[in-house]
Amino acid sequence: MDIHEYQAKEVLSNFGVAIPSGALAYSPEQAAYRARELGGDKWIVKAQVHAGGRGKAGGVKLCNSENEIHTACDEMFGRKLVTHQTGPEGKGIYRVYVESAVPIDREIYLGFVLDRTSQRVMIVASSEGGMEIEEISAERPDSIVRSIVEPAVGLQEFQAREVAFNLGLEPRLVQQMVRTLQGCYAAFNELDATMVEINPLVVTGDDRVLALDAKMSFDDNALFRHPHISELRDKSQEDPRESRAADRGLSYVGLEGNIGCIVNGAGLAMATMDTIKLAGGEPANFLDIGGGASPERVAKAFRLVLSDKNVQAVLVNIFAGINRCDWVAEGVVQALRDLEIDIPVIVRLAGTNVEEGQKILAKSGLPIIRATTLMEAAERAVGAWRNDLIQNTKVRAV
Ligand code: GDP
Ligand code: MN
Repeated sequence: MDIHEYQAKEVLSNFGVAIPSGALAYSPEQAAYRARELGGDKWIVKAQVHAGGRGKAGGVKLCNSENEIHTACDEMFGRKLVTHQTGPEGKGIYRVYVESAVPIDREIYLGFVLDRTSQRVMIVASSEGGMEIEEISAERPDSIVRSIVEPAVGLQEFQAREVAFNLGLEPRLVQQMVRTLQGCYAAFNELDATMVEINPLVVTGDDRVLALDAKMSFDDNALFRHPHISELRDKSQEDPRESRAADRGLSYVGLEGNIGCIVNGAGLAMATMDTIKLAGGEPANFLDIGGGASPERVAKAFRLVLSDKNVQAVLVNIFAGINRCDWVAEGVVQALRDLEIDIPVIVRLAGTNVEEGQKILAKSGLPIIRATTLMEAAERAVGAWRNDLIQNTKVRAV
């Protein structure tokens, strides 16, 4: 789960990371009012969306008066911000964060990620802040400082000091940097984060080390033990297809294609997507219904896949071990009866109770296309989808 910048800043500041003073607003009027509360005469208005790259996309504006704040906010609220991280549809702006602007001397990149090779939390930092880490690693790889934290002892002061020195920080700033690094690590560790990124972490003209931007992601499987974090979820920033699935306990990822997939097991789901591509099609989603799926669960998965307007054919691929083909077949039949489905449905069943499953499908009298192998299923799905396209085009042409 991702959270907003202002939320990440509050979380991190509770762990001792220094941040500029700022306030949240839900309307242009409130933004101007909150700027007045903050005081000063220069503010940064920042669109709160779950994506980076806002600066270049017009989501971060420097304002010199309440009037300018009003104008900046009028251009943001209710709009979709499209950055290189949001995809072409963008993300809605419903909240802005107003911050007192600070004079920047240096911009540093600071990230905490899980390093799969060492199975440890790794600090990734660079003296070239402001740029995205991908750009930094392409253009200035020599500037990147990496440091792996030993979980048994946590981030030690000497290790944090070493990072600070490797970034070329002056000795008088090192203590603030140590505090920042230790605060980020503690937040990452105690809250089951999967990523903390501060870009930029800045040194101000008056020698303060401040987190000017902040991003945090959390492990969904550990959210149950951090209720104050899970309540920060903002569904307006999520793919509606994916939040609907998460609410139903299904593991779903929306994609760009038009062949919907209902599969059990992540590995089989990946193989199914690959095979669809091999057959010349494009998957519309990744959906793993898991083991022991009841007919109701299968029907739910069907509704979810069909609620995606891009889906023009559905491929059900089940290899039943713990699952039962007859239950899956019942779920498919139930869903097809409940919903008026006018697109091709291809079902491939294998494993436990496969004969019973096939019988249920055959007896239903529904126009279900059956297949025995995965390749055959994928080819039939792509074929049926193409056929449908041709027929529909003909109808429209007449
Ligand atoms: P992002 O584009 O989504 O990563 O948004 P950021 O919060 O990183 O803001 C983009 C850029 O705006 C930063 O890299 C800074 O250069 C600039 N910026 C943000 N806040 C301030 C500020 O208080 N003072 C100044 N001078 N620049 C700022
Ligand atoms: Mn940033």
